[in-house]
Amino acid sequence: RPREQLNAVDSVCPYCGVGCALTYYVDRERDAIAFAEGRDQPGSKSRLCVKGRYGWDYAASPQRLTVPLIRVDSSYPKGPLSADVRGDNDHDRGRGGGGGNRSGGKRGRDGRRKPGGLVDYDEVLPHFREATWEEAMDLVARRLKEIHATGGPGAIAGFGSAKCSNEEAYLFQKLIRAGFGTNNVDHCTRLCHASSVAALFEGVGSGAVSTTYSDVVNADVVIITGSNPTANHPVASSFFKQARRRGTKIVYVDPRASTVSEHADYHCQVKPGTDVAFYNALMHEVIRLGKIDREFIAARVSNYDELARTVADYPPERAAQITGVDADLIREVARVWGEAGSAVIYWGMGISQHTTGTDNARCLIALCSITGNVGRPGTGLHPLRGQNNVQGASDAGLIPMFYPDYQGVEKARERFEKAWGTSLDPNRGLTVTEIIGSVLKPGGVRGMYMLGENPFLSDPNINKVRKALSALDFLVVQDIFLTETAEFADVILPASSYLEKNGSYTNTDRRVQLGRKVMDPPGQARVDWEIIQDLARRIGLDWSYTHPSEVFDEMVALMPSYANLRHDNLGLSGKLYPNADPEHSDGTVVLFDERFNTDDGLAHLVPAQWLPAKELPDAEYPLVLNTGRLLEHWHTGSMTRRSFALDTISPIAEVYMHPKDAADRGLAHGERVRVRSRRGEIELQVRISHREQQGNCFIPFHFREAAANLLTIDAIDPYGKIPEFKFCAIQVEAL
Ligand code: SF4
Repeated sequence: RPREQLNAVDSVCPYCGVGCALTYYVDRERDAIAFAEGRDQPGSKSRLCVKGRYGWDYAASPQRLTVPLIRVDSSYPKGPLSADVRGDNDHDRGRGGGGGNRSGGKRGRDGRRKPGGLVDYDEVLPHFREATWEEAMDLVARRLKEIHATGGPGAIAGFGSAKCSNEEAYLFQKLIRAGFGTNNVDHCTRLCHASSVAALFEGVGSGAVSTTYSDVVNADVVIITGSNPTANHPVASSFFKQARRRGTKIVYVDPRASTVSEHADYHCQVKPGTDVAFYNALMHEVIRLGKIDREFIAARVSNYDELARTVADYPPERAAQITGVDADLIREVARVWGEAGSAVIYWGMGISQHTTGTDNARCLIALCSITGNVGRPGTGLHPLRGQNNVQGASDAGLIPMFYPDYQGVEKARERFEKAWGTSLDPNRGLTVTEIIGSVLKPGGVRGMYMLGENPFLSDPNINKVRKALSALDFLVVQDIFLTETAEFADVILPASSYLEKNGSYTNTDRRVQLGRKVMDPPGQARVDWEIIQDLARRIGLDWSYTHPSEVFDEMVALMPSYANLRHDNLGLSGKLYPNADPEHSDGTVVLFDERFNTDDGLAHLVPAQWLPAKELPDAEYPLVLNTGRLLEHWHTGSMTRRSFALDTISPIAEVYMHPKDAADRGLAHGERVRVRSRRGEIELQVRISHREQQGNCFIPFHFREAAANLLTIDAIDPYGKIPEFKFCAIQVEAL
């Protein structure tokens, strides 16, 4: 059908934090998207990666949830009900029927082969019955109110979603706070950049990026660290490569090689978990060479002397022993950084997902600050956000220690009590990682509302998560598919994909953009903000929003950072915040040109000592596991594994191994192996990869049938409370 006969709907890509602008071309006769095309916007310039271009067909999957479901067999122990995620209790083993966790799929009742790795609907659905919305919502409200009445506000918790819009994130945290009187509300930022945000708040008074990723073209030098942007932020990566062609020097600091290291001027292939030692050594050398910015330090930095004393203990030779990076390379990179007129750091979860994640980010803040590389074009600090709306969901208050716009629950309680007309919890709530632990303790969380999150695959040590989800008195899951977590639910509410609703989303650059409705939700599925409002009314809140723009206006009134923004002035490209004049300006690219957001306006340096990871390799578990994402897939795979193109390109789980590690075990490329840690084991295929360091393996966490988080450790960073997804000890062996 020619393009002129298709309906064009301008929207935003739902996957990574880059938030590329795109247009969907919709065939109204078939009520289906025909194709998607990139749209010009300052942060994406009409570019799309494979996910944005082809990854939208999941929304039309026949596996969409279309009617509310209520668990029928309350005597039947809770999930996992499907056989192909291995649990460790008798129930799971007894019922599994030898399914193990092998990929490859099996035959359903209709005799057709099912895709491997998705929840087996035939196996799970008999444990639920269809219900009306009235019946399902009445049950949800009644059970959560009962748990609240008997266990108190702390017995309730909510996981919101960074896949939902800003308005939905705002309403969800408002519901948990104002409706149930608890701050036990969090989302996947806890698994992503919580440690970066903790360090940024402490250091510069703001958790958002200080400059955009496209500002890299103004930098003389860029450090890209703990990140594989080609896979995780592909369009941002294209700006990095473009900057390299224009003369920006790229320093890539990462345990793994990637296509970015192939474009880099320097690849510092640190051993996993040694970032603090590396960056302390860089600062040691910058100071020794006299390449610090004394004027900037005197005017805008506090605690420099203590930092200098700490990094004095990290000469390059010592750091080389810890990090495995040659001392001369450390010296050379320090010189290049110190001599740059403008230098910027972009980092990913290789920095944040450690028990030292906050310390790692503190070092990056210090390195930029002592060299005056903040507050000018081509300088600054940018944690590359993972999910499309993790920045916006955090801004909207979907975190247990902050109300919207990072207003602390201790400081801003009265303001929000007045705005919302109710008394609020004076204490910080529990984080995602703490809530899972709390469920397993007496007097802890008993009832949960899960909106669009899938902790049974996304959280660390999922055998522990399974125990927690099984132990809940009541779990309501609101999602678009029967996820692994939904198997544990008492009530499942069919929700809408981002294609089926209007709302705003904030990307990693602080760009607030409108996602526009392309099609109706299937069956009886409803828009998420309407479901949240329905529950709010049933528990006694007087809400009467009629459109997301009304929610957005309320948010803006309470969020100084979003001042002046409205749905009708975001335009087709969205706007960066802060923005004094959105009618005429794209917004502020570079923050902190005059002062930091801290109370005294100074950057507060916090020195860090290098500490090893929590679980080091030993004779029984001699290899280090690093987990992460692939270009074609997204988090727990519920969307991308239902996308024909994406799943066809990348259909199976693999463990990436250095050739020598594979040879030492007699393993050939493509061979099936067992990977064990102290917490569980999985079976999957070997991929021999020259990009891994010897002694280290990589497993993506998208694949249910080889769930990487059966292996990972649930040790957390003491400040950001983020798990150590990037380091635990494993063994790999032939089957
Ligand atoms: Fe979507 Fe990110 Fe790819 Fe852009 S780079 S198309 S936002 S997944």
